[in-house]
Amino acid sequence: MGLFNALAEWREASREKKIVRNRERGTCPACTGQGYYPLAVNEYMAFESADAYTCQQCSGSGLYADWERYQNQL
Ligand SMILES: [Zn+2]
Repeated sequence: MGLFNALAEWREASREKKIVRNRERGTCPACTGQGYYPLAVNEYMAFESADAYTCQQCSGSGLYADWERYQNQL
């Protein structure tokens, strides 16, 4: 197994862990239940509408169920 595969596997495992953790709490893994992206707030996005901060994957609800529905649409 090459380095790239090892890295990809590690990233996949860490992603799975994050999803499991959020599923237990019932929160959206993409925004950890916040409903928006706090890290996305910067001087450029300040000019965008409020929609720019809203988590697209749970429609801002912060719920795991809504995130899961979004995943199934992909
Ligand atoms: Zn979300």
